[in-house]
Amino acid sequence: MTENSTLKEKEKAEEEMIEQAFQQLLNDYLNTKHRRRVEIINKAFHFANQAHRGIKRRSGEPYIMHPIAVARIVCNEIGLGSTSICAALLHDVVEDTDYTIEDIENLFGPKIAQIVDGLTKIAGGIFGDHASAQAENFKKLLLTMSNDIRVILIKIADRLHNMRTLGSMLPNKQYKIAGETLYIYAPLANRLGLYKIKTELEDLSFRYEHPEEYQEIERKLAATAPERDQVFQDFTAPIREQLDKMGLKYRILQRVKSIYSIWNKMQTKHVPFEEVFDLLAVRIIFEPRQPEEEANDCFHIYVAISKIYKPHPDRLRDWVSHPKANGYQALHVTLMSNRGQWIEVQIRSERMNDIAEQGFAAHWKYKEGGGSEDEGELEKWLHTIKEILEDPQPDAIDFLDTIKLNLFASEIFVFTPKGEIKTMPQGCTALDFAFSLHTDIGSHCIGAKVNHKLVPLSHKLQSGDQVEILTSRAQRVQPEWEVYATTAKARAKIASVLRKENKVHQKEGEAILSQYLQAEGFRLDDSTLDKLMRLYNFRHREELFAAIGSKKIVPGEAERHLLKGGKKSNWKKLLTFSFGSSKEEKPKEKAVEEAAPAGTTPINTKQVLKLTEETIQKNYRMADCCNPIPGDDVLGYLDDEGRVIIHKRQCPVAARLKSSYGNRIIATEWDTHKELSFLVTIYIKGIDCVGLLNEVTQIISRQLNVNIRKLVIESMDGIFEGRIQLYVHDVDDVRTICHNLKQVKNIKQVTRVEEKE
Ligand code: MN
Repeated sequence: MTENSTLKEKEKAEEEMIEQAFQQLLNDYLNTKHRRRVEIINKAFHFANQAHRGIKRRSGEPYIMHPIAVARIVCNEIGLGSTSICAALLHDVVEDTDYTIEDIENLFGPKIAQIVDGLTKIAGGIFGDHASAQAENFKKLLLTMSNDIRVILIKIADRLHNMRTLGSMLPNKQYKIAGETLYIYAPLANRLGLYKIKTELEDLSFRYEHPEEYQEIERKLAATAPERDQVFQDFTAPIREQLDKMGLKYRILQRVKSIYSIWNKMQTKHVPFEEVFDLLAVRIIFEPRQPEEEANDCFHIYVAISKIYKPHPDRLRDWVSHPKANGYQALHVTLMSNRGQWIEVQIRSERMNDIAEQGFAAHWKYKEGGGSEDEGELEKWLHTIKEILEDPQPDAIDFLDTIKLNLFASEIFVFTPKGEIKTMPQGCTALDFAFSLHTDIGSHCIGAKVNHKLVPLSHKLQSGDQVEILTSRAQRVQPEWEVYATTAKARAKIASVLRKENKVHQKEGEAILSQYLQAEGFRLDDSTLDKLMRLYNFRHREELFAAIGSKKIVPGEAERHLLKGGKKSNWKKLLTFSFGSSKEEKPKEKAVEEAAPAGTTPINTKQVLKLTEETIQKNYRMADCCNPIPGDDVLGYLDDEGRVIIHKRQCPVAARLKSSYGNRIIATEWDTHKELSFLVTIYIKGIDCVGLLNEVTQIISRQLNVNIRKLVIESMDGIFEGRIQLYVHDVDDVRTICHNLKQVKNIKQVTRVEEKE
């Protein structure tokens, strides 16, 4: 044979295969009670066939085999009629060929075109290749869904066929498709009452995601099958006898738990396969003696079999009188077998069984005279499904919530306040999300609201969360953010901002320090730097410069004591030195004028001193006996050198000063704006437990712009005591932190203490 004729042979064989598949579809359709609209189905097939001609699937099959298979699922397994079958046949035409939706509309009318359009829009898959397209697609999915639910049903059929043929896909594609199937299509099928499809989707996904576990369970199921068969035979024999006596037409099926469900149970209950005891269920499907006796028959059967086996008192589920929202009807009972094993028995009529397997579409199969897809029953059914999907709330987020079944998905879906959906990697934090929106939003992020609740930037996001990022122009990128950020993008941005800022701060800090040292007659040499670095516990001088430049160092008196020797007076000056505003230095005279504490002029004690950021740094000193911070009740004391020392009012030293040097006491008033940081110590005490330290640090880090300097926790005999030194701006900060710490169950005592180092 020539090559050409081989090709011809092959083509012919393919055409025959296609024709045969289509005939099967037609037969399936003609076996339903739908109107016999064979003509339009024929037309759709021929159109799709020539549109996809010459195109092959990855498996090597002609492409048209896929739409035919999808149409067969739509017809047989979902129970839809000609409109849906046509749409299924045409579902990839607009996506994959040059035909447009207008062409479809001209040839097949607006209804089919609308469905094909919906299918085309979501064709990329909910988890499309591009994250942003995915977001868009999912929105479209939701929108089209409310237009015509058939879009979703056909999409489910499409997915089912793709899952059945997943083996020919590349492994990385397999994983992705399996993940999204489990994540979204299986729950969706479940919601629509398509239990059989749901189970198959789950099992197929599971098989690709966990091939070894799948095979293991499959193997064990096969190994235990004979034993199960025996149990089934023994258990059902007396039941059959009883049902025969009642004169019922029935069949009894052995229903084995699906592989995915078994695995799921093993995971959630932490049990091995051998301890999954409800592998076997029994299904009694009967033909009601009279159509109107259907429900009564269920209960008659129940009464009859519970005379044979003892029923579990708490496990009667009556979905006959109260069908599930998706239409599911059955009576579930659990009976004690003679082997001492609980076995679930599901009692359903044939009609109920069809509904359970095919969803609502099965409903109108039972209507006299058959159904017509374009009117009446189907419309009613589609309407009901729409209501189910919209129930309980029509909110997209709630909807996603109900279908959310996040097991292996490496991605989560997060909503913006406007309802836009964003894909994020699992385990990401609010801070990551802020940076994913925009670098500017990330850089100025001060917190977030997740589902309307305030959370820290380190908060881990869950799929379905609605996240609002709170920003402030005053906010800067913080070094600890590097810990909170998990995505590469956020980390890179944070690192680059910090690097840039750090360089600027280092330069500033070095200039400030050298200027000061020069003025004091010191040199910026190694020995001076070493001393300073030791004082602040820095390993590199760059850190020291950066700390000074960023004004993080606002040293207190405590540090002074660490520096010994005759240079004390110099160091004292250093430590009360203004660690500079980046703004231009205001003329000293002016500050002196404003505060007027200098010189020997007696201070008018009626005068109220305003304690502003600037005067605190330049003119006043916080007493190291009581370490006041903005917001404390304080007073000023004019010392011999003409400096104003700020004490807490209740400080014992202040009390003594007050009684001895009343004329040197100055009334003071805070006028600060959270620009300077002050060191405070908070004492906590409580019952020791696992995770406490983590909780404490979480709470403190939640307080924005608050840095822990030191945290010591000691535990003895189940009681812990802790001291946390941190930098705060004022009493408000302290109050909030104390309040939050008190919320921790095991913390019994929280107080701010005065502590010297
Ligand atoms: Mn397809």
